[in-house]
Amino acid sequence: MKLSRFGEKFTGHSGIVALMDDLGSALNENPEMIFMGGGNPARLPEVERVMGQSLQELLSDSRRRHQLLGIYQPPKGDNEFCLYVARLLQREFGWPVTEKNIAVTNGSQSAFFVLFNLFAGEMPDGSRKTIHLPLTPEYLGYSDIGLSDALFSASVPAIEKLPGGMFKYHVDFSRLQIDHSIAALSVSRPTNPTGNVLTDEEMAHLDQIARANDIPFIIDGAYGLPFPGIVFNQAVPLWSDNTILVLSLSKFGLPGARTGIIVAAEEVVEACSNVNTIVSLACGNMGPGIGRQLFDSGEILRLSREVIQPFYRQRAEQTLQWFREALGDLPCHIHTPEGAIFLWLWFEGLPVSSQTLYERLKARGVLVVPGHHFFPGLKEKWQHQHECIRVSYAQDEEQVKRGVEI
Ligand code: PLP
Repeated sequence: MKLSRFGEKFTGHSGIVALMDDLGSALNENPEMIFMGGGNPARLPEVERVMGQSLQELLSDSRRRHQLLGIYQPPKGDNEFCLYVARLLQREFGWPVTEKNIAVTNGSQSAFFVLFNLFAGEMPDGSRKTIHLPLTPEYLGYSDIGLSDALFSASVPAIEKLPGGMFKYHVDFSRLQIDHSIAALSVSRPTNPTGNVLTDEEMAHLDQIARANDIPFIIDGAYGLPFPGIVFNQAVPLWSDNTILVLSLSKFGLPGARTGIIVAAEEVVEACSNVNTIVSLACGNMGPGIGRQLFDSGEILRLSREVIQPFYRQRAEQTLQWFREALGDLPCHIHTPEGAIFLWLWFEGLPVSSQTLYERLKARGVLVVPGHHFFPGLKEKWQHQHECIRVSYAQDEEQVKRGVEI
């Protein structure tokens, strides 16, 4: 098979594909494997009930069933859904957004594919630009998303060691050098894999730097506010005409519906919709179909605040306690869990690599994700990259407890 450059890049060696294959085959080889590796959200009966009911209602009405299954939505997604999302953001945060600032995508992953490649890569004048990640570790799903190589650049963070074996990453503004090679700044908040929630001051400072350099500030809110709202502190969400906020229904409990939501200036929304039309023709109707009622009634916020956030907060605290008991005096720092669905463990001075630790844990029946995958764009050699693992606490409680003990 003779492949194009695109073909070679997207079928060649990719850390994330190799890891996902490995995780998948590990489960096949050992069905008893404790799965603390993936990004699946927890099963929450009340959320499932509400979504199931909403789906039933759509299916039982012939007009709505047809809307769900029998038509293509316009390029930027179901207009009514976009309207409800805009109203919710206006109500909640006072943001001056209308449905023209909202686009639906087939999952936020594909929104990032479009956005990152829209702004960075090879420029019309032949120069190259990167998406800069001002704080790594950052989401491993970005790593291979570029149509060209080296789509990302990244900065090493400052580490604040905290009492009780905890720590927190901060953006090290002294290292953040913005020049013409940077097309945009991007952060996930809460951060996958660390559960870090960048402080309001850090966000304001990044926004100001982006504005001063006339580049957009992209915020990945897959776990964030207002839905699914997996944030355990008092962080204030940020949006301005220079920010591009990307939300998702996946961690709310709908990863199978593949629904991402872009909140951005109209010209960005239009650009993304154009690309989406060329690549996908239209978005799936399932997420907007189920979501329409949840957004209109505000039920999405009630579930986020009363069911989803308390579940993960309690689970984070519990898992942290289990780790403290199980680790004893081993030299392990844990990132303060401020949101998302993972704990990030830093074994300072680990005598093997995080890859070896991952393999040993897999052989012992528990799957985690080795930390070195979470540094997309980082050129500097940094031992810390090989000393960390990501552990999901979203799955069955007993399993999480046994996994922690292993
Ligand atoms: N961003 C972050 C930080 C994630 O963790 C994920 C998935 O795990 C995504 C984006 C993509 O999610 P989806 O495409 O399901 O919206």
